[in-house]
Amino acid sequence: MESIIEFKDIKKVYDKNIVIPNLNLSIKKGEFITIIGTSGSGKTTVLKMMNGLIEPTSGMIQIHGKDIKKQNLIQLRRKMGYVIQGSMLFPHLTVKQNMAYVPQLEKKKVDHQLIEEWLQKVQLDSSLKDKYPSELSGGQQQRVAIARGLIHQPDILLMDEPFGAVDEITRRQLQDEILKIYQQTKTTILFVTHDIKEALKLGTRVLIMDQGTIQQFDTPENIVQAPANDYVKRLVLHNES
Ligand code: ADP
Repeated sequence: MESIIEFKDIKKVYDKNIVIPNLNLSIKKGEFITIIGTSGSGKTTVLKMMNGLIEPTSGMIQIHGKDIKKQNLIQLRRKMGYVIQGSMLFPHLTVKQNMAYVPQLEKKKVDHQLIEEWLQKVQLDSSLKDKYPSELSGGQQQRVAIARGLIHQPDILLMDEPFGAVDEITRRQLQDEILKIYQQTKTTILFVTHDIKEALKLGTRVLIMDQGTIQQFDTPENIVQAPANDYVKRLVLHNES
């Protein structure tokens, strides 16, 4: 299967702090990768290097087989959805306008039918489309953010703790919805979380990180049945609690 993202000998140093010593990663088209690890283990750094928000100190990142340094970053980001915790919707734009908005993109005509379709996919009532973010619940805002991340049919969807700010019930609903959307679209998804239950439930493969190094990168089944080391074992124990 075609590899869509490759990290080759990636190192990231902030000042003198080596956050990622040497990371090699190969992600195939259509995988749903969850990235988990303690706070500060480098999860967000890895994600932000994929869309060029953070530049590695050394090494090469390839997207679709091409070095991202040789690609136009704006064009690259257009093909990537990005959803973060707390949704970050524009407060002065309505739901509809938020969904239609693509950063740094030439003005596009709002496709009303597409907006209706995506409202349905994320289980939002059509009547909400003219409301402002402040008139929505946290869970509804997060749904709009997911729809906005996917409406332009990105090849890759980056999600950084997208369900971190919602209550437990909404969180479970959103997990089920993103799984359903993934099964329908087969978009390649990279999903950062610190919740092992979430990582094992959603991922086709789970990337477990500690101090910028991979502890295990495997299917949820293999991680549960054959944890690679004590760090992974301890993490998996949380799944059973
Ligand atoms: P995680 O997402 O796993 O919590 P991060 O990728 O955000 O971890 O951060 C990894 C490490 O890099 C942390 O020790 C953090 O303090 C450090 N770090 C992140 N961003 C910066 C920055 N802009 N300047 C200096 N250190 C940073």
